[in-house]
Amino acid sequence: MAVFSLQDFDGHEQVVCASDPDSGLKAIIAVHDTARGPALGGCRMWNYASEDLAIHDVLRLSRGMTYKNALADLPFGGGKSVIIGDSRADKTPELMAAMGRAVERLAGRYIIAEDVGTSVEDMATVRSVTRHVAGLRDGSGDPSPATARGVFMGIRAAADYRLRRNSLDGLRVNVQGLGHVGWDLCRQLAGEGARLAVSDIRRDTVERAVEAFGATPVDAEQIYDVEADVFAPCALGAVIDDDTLPRLKVAVVAGSANNQLAESRHGTGLARRGILYAPDFVINAGGVINISYEFGRNGQGYDRAAAFAHVDRIHDTLLRIFQRADAEGIPTNIAADRIAEERFRPSRVA
Ligand code: NAD
Repeated sequence: MAVFSLQDFDGHEQVVCASDPDSGLKAIIAVHDTARGPALGGCRMWNYASEDLAIHDVLRLSRGMTYKNALADLPFGGGKSVIIGDSRADKTPELMAAMGRAVERLAGRYIIAEDVGTSVEDMATVRSVTRHVAGLRDGSGDPSPATARGVFMGIRAAADYRLRRNSLDGLRVNVQGLGHVGWDLCRQLAGEGARLAVSDIRRDTVERAVEAFGATPVDAEQIYDVEADVFAPCALGAVIDDDTLPRLKVAVVAGSANNQLAESRHGTGLARRGILYAPDFVINAGGVINISYEFGRNGQGYDRAAAFAHVDRIHDTLLRIFQRADAEGIPTNIAADRIAEERFRPSRVA
């Protein structure tokens, strides 16, 4: 495969293939950019159908972390790693320890954390061989409450900017997905008097939300058609596509799901329809902000209050993105990219 010419290679500083025949480890660690600090990003274990797909994925995810960490104003760059294999069948402590040794060999240029297919327990194994690891049980804990807090603050910013509302009382929000993030988001929104419509493929969870928050239940497929102020996707990626875009009857799209736009052009599509989009990698950065505080600030250890105060800054970051998009007549996802690039490679931005 011609790696350097791939679109997502995009000037990666370092891409390492790591292997350990004894444990069966086959991994790729991608360090996209360390201008702001060591590359921080999770380790995905996935049964990729081919090595080419694994390379594509790690480069795309690693580059994305540079933008995400820069917009979150973290002293970290972007990186990611993938282990090729089935996390249920192939993952062993020996394999994770071998991964930890591969991380250790990068001497702190890459900091590993959990992601799809890896867990807090796996990171504890990694910790036995390297200190360049985040997301430990005795560290910042479950990232979801911080992510939900960030999305809540993002919805506040969008409601303020687009609807000129500084109160969420009576705001109509459609929440798709009532998992770790979606449920906690509903709790916070309901606490401020928002009117919720909710969908999940798990009917029991929907029933619990009706009971707990007075939410209106909606069939999973119908959530795109419900008129509201805000659509908050908190389940799957690629939910804004050619089919769903024309169906939306909302003023704002703001939720936690990764990669909400099926393609970048759907960001333009939202803007053309007058729908304010809070770019996913900005509004859902609460988890990585929280985890980054495991490395402390000013010589201190993890400080939850300081981490959550930083998460709340997502509000102002989004306002800046919305203003920039309007001033330059560009979609918000493009405005976010531009602001990120100014932060991690100012010399290369015109
Ligand atoms: P989760 O697995 O706990 O919850 C996802 C929920 O979505 C589940 O309840 C599931 O039943 C539901 N769901 C699945 N398909 C659905 C559909 N078609 N319609 C409606 N509901 C559906 O996941 P989570 O941790 O709450 O994360 C939610 C999203 O936010 C994911 O896209 C995740 O990648 C992203 N995210 C999460 C975090 C975090 O800190 N947890 C951080 C950044 C991004």
